[in-house]
Amino acid sequence: MHDFSDVIGQDAVKEHLLRAVESDRVSHAYLLIGENGMGKEEIADAFAKMLLCEKNPLHPCGVCHACVQVDAGTHPDAVHVTHEKPNSIGVDEVRDQLAAEIMIRPFSGKRRIFIVPDAEKMTQQAQNALLKTIEEPPDYAVILLLTESEEALLETVRSRCVKLKFRPVPKEVLTRALMERFGVSRGEAVLAAEFARGVAGRAKEMVLSVEFRQRCEETLSLLFSLPEEGAEKIPGDISKIEEWYPDLMDFLDFVRMYFRDLLLLKSDPRSKNVIFAGNEERLIQASRDLSPERAGKALEETERTVDRLRANVNADLSLALLLEAVRMSRTKG
Ligand SMILES: [Zn+2]
Repeated sequence: MHDFSDVIGQDAVKEHLLRAVESDRVSHAYLLIGENGMGKEEIADAFAKMLLCEKNPLHPCGVCHACVQVDAGTHPDAVHVTHEKPNSIGVDEVRDQLAAEIMIRPFSGKRRIFIVPDAEKMTQQAQNALLKTIEEPPDYAVILLLTESEEALLETVRSRCVKLKFRPVPKEVLTRALMERFGVSRGEAVLAAEFARGVAGRAKEMVLSVEFRQRCEETLSLLFSLPEEGAEKIPGDISKIEEWYPDLMDFLDFVRMYFRDLLLLKSDPRSKNVIFAGNEERLIQASRDLSPERAGKALEETERTVDRLRANVNADLSLALLLEAVRMSRTKG
């Protein structure tokens, strides 16, 4: 199932691993660093398949016994270290599932691969237990530590791993991939790529969710109607926004994109570069009574809101100031 092409972007990581297999210089320990949703698990599984496929290591066949077992999560030489407590990987878990297990020679292939998701959750003791193993690993062993935060790992552990950093996927690349793979419109793909900040897994979830599209629609309507409403409607709007956006930074991105489109259409009503594609008519209409100067102020207010939220200023208050600036950005009629 998993193969490098399933993961959007991360070309440098893929390239590095491919070259290691090709030149038969696979390291014993890798640290895969990146936000969840960037494809660390998928890459780790695909790499395990490359190392275990009976036919073609560079392009795992997907049909041999080894590939099928890796995909099913049942290959005895592809071990996923699991943990019982949600927030910590204990020393016993590392000892049993990794340190002791790794001494067993491969069952079928030439290698045994150990994948440790959320490696930063290893306790200090657990990391020390791991350290002994990665200092002198058996020649057939490959350990993949997956983590969001490299800093949570002991320097002694980190320094023995080849570090592979996952990067946010450039927005244009992500947008195109979302359109091609999921058949969504450019507008939806652009929005999801923007909100996901380059994390492909998050963007994918968005474009596949009905709520996402509905929420975009509702947010846009709310912003459109602000200038026509009195300031007394703002508290109600704030409640909605807080309900729709558990992470208010996403809403702030939305506001930025909204003004970007309005300013773009004000200078060129025929532009084909609109993010909120499909809403051109409404946007052009709104751009007509937009004051560029006040739009600029609203955008500055958006940046101040980012600072306020980061400084833990009351969210209601921060949003009230922002929505007032949005409301004033268009001189209605
Ligand atoms: Zn195969």
